[in-house]
Amino acid sequence: MNSPLIRLFDFSFALVGLVAGFPLLLLLYLFGLLDTGKPLFRQKRVGRHQIPFILWKFRTMKKNTESVASHLVDPASITSFGKLLRKTKLDEVPQLWNVLKGEMSLVGPRPCLFSQKDLLTERQNQNVFDVRPGVTGLAQIQNVDMSRPKELARLDAQMIRHFRLPDFFRFIFLTLFGRGQGDAVNIGPERIYLSPPHLSGEEGTYLQDALKSNWIGPVGPHVRRFEREMASLLQVEKAVSVNSGTAALHLILRALNIGPGDIVLCSSFTFVASVNPVLYVGAQPVLIDSETTSWNLDPDLLEKAIEDLKNKGPKPKALILVHLYGQSANLERIQAICERENILLIEDAAEALGATYGNRCPGSFGVAGFLSFNGNKIITTSGGGMIVTNDPELATQTRYLAAQAKDPGTSYEHSVMGYNYSFSNVLAAIGRAQLKALPGRVIQKREVFRKYQKGLGDLPGITFMPEASWGKSTRWLSCLLLNPREGTPEPMEVIEELEKFNIESRPLWKPMHQQIIYRETPFYGNGVADDLYDRGLCLPSPSDLSPTQQDHIIEIIRRLF
Ligand SMILES: *Cc1c(COP(=O)(O)O)cnc(C)c1O
Repeated sequence: MNSPLIRLFDFSFALVGLVAGFPLLLLLYLFGLLDTGKPLFRQKRVGRHQIPFILWKFRTMKKNTESVASHLVDPASITSFGKLLRKTKLDEVPQLWNVLKGEMSLVGPRPCLFSQKDLLTERQNQNVFDVRPGVTGLAQIQNVDMSRPKELARLDAQMIRHFRLPDFFRFIFLTLFGRGQGDAVNIGPERIYLSPPHLSGEEGTYLQDALKSNWIGPVGPHVRRFEREMASLLQVEKAVSVNSGTAALHLILRALNIGPGDIVLCSSFTFVASVNPVLYVGAQPVLIDSETTSWNLDPDLLEKAIEDLKNKGPKPKALILVHLYGQSANLERIQAICERENILLIEDAAEALGATYGNRCPGSFGVAGFLSFNGNKIITTSGGGMIVTNDPELATQTRYLAAQAKDPGTSYEHSVMGYNYSFSNVLAAIGRAQLKALPGRVIQKREVFRKYQKGLGDLPGITFMPEASWGKSTRWLSCLLLNPREGTPEPMEVIEELEKFNIESRPLWKPMHQQIIYRETPFYGNGVADDLYDRGLCLPSPSDLSPTQQDHIIEIIRRLF
């Protein structure tokens, strides 16, 4: 947008426009003279590199009430002649003078006022001031109102990033002849991801602190504070951070002495990382299906499986209970079964940070639970995990195993096999900033879900993921079921259609009993997970999904029905 070629076009167009349009401009000037007495309107605006300049316009209002923030304009103060000017956009023509002088370009982000503090900061953050402000731009064509500084700055930044020479002409053409076609105009549409990282803005401050203090190793004050903050959030006694959720589960199994000959019950409907660590320690997984209330492990089936397994051979030693898609499983019943049968309850809360069961948090019920801070989770440190437990010995043991199982003392003594699973102080710094934003993220994720429900809920054959009465879901991902037998499209058709618009969506987790690696693994089924997998869909669920983007997604899906 800063290329000399564009400057040449700007200059030539402005010159030709001013010269050829001179008779018209003069006429408008004279009309304005009669209308308001002061036909030209000048206002200080923020230019390129935030240098102020005076923007020229034809006056359209009686008093000096012109404002860039169109939502603040009192319609009554616009004169009839002013209305005509605004409708034909002729009131903007004097800006050709600004263009000629090089203060503006024909196409670019609309220059704001210095008093628009929110817009100023958003624009600074997104480098919008790197280019000349414009007479028209993407936000104008899309009719985004000036009262939404975030959306405005995002669109401006997007326009600047993807701008190509033909867009210069395209935008001028659409401004002159388009009819405010909203989403129809796009420029290098940025990919909408399923659940991308969402910065809180404070990460830099925390990181700076970690760097300045030289604690960039696997230990340090942020690691300890991150653990303490998490323990206090989940109301558990101990938290031990490690470099992934998978590592956390592996260490829990090791610390509980689960190994060859042991049977570990597992949720079948989950991501593979909930089960693989059972194989790492040489134990035998047994897979159990889901119920339809929360899509998590079915307690009835769990009881049946335990009875059956007790008759056959060794009693199961542990259960890895998964809380999927931001929602807690039926903890009370499952915990009661585990206590009665003397089975160790381990909770996979990787997807359920921020959720509740009653007024407690999933992950805090069993002998140990774990979290994940992978890139797609509700908060992220790029990668990481945490063990949470009320058992101090288990905490100490996992911490020891995570750091190569080095025995106390200065010399290198090792009596058991350990791992290099430690977390990093740098990532913990990011984690602390992210954790502060968690309550807001839950609200945002739930709002995204609610908006999908509102926008798609009336379509025949669509059902959204239920929310069980025992707790509150974070709606980490917005999931729904389609019903092709009732005439809905197949999940894959929706996924492929969204992909055409560079939007990511996914099927639900493929159950473990359908995976080649777990083909021979014992499985207690009831058909629920298979059905969920066949008919389910995860829609894009970024916590910062904009209303415009979400309307776009809803519109694409509705067209398929
Ligand atoms: C992400 C995830 C994990 C694994 O966490 P990582 O940090 O990626 O190793 C485990 N279980 C479930 C259900 C997950 O979604």
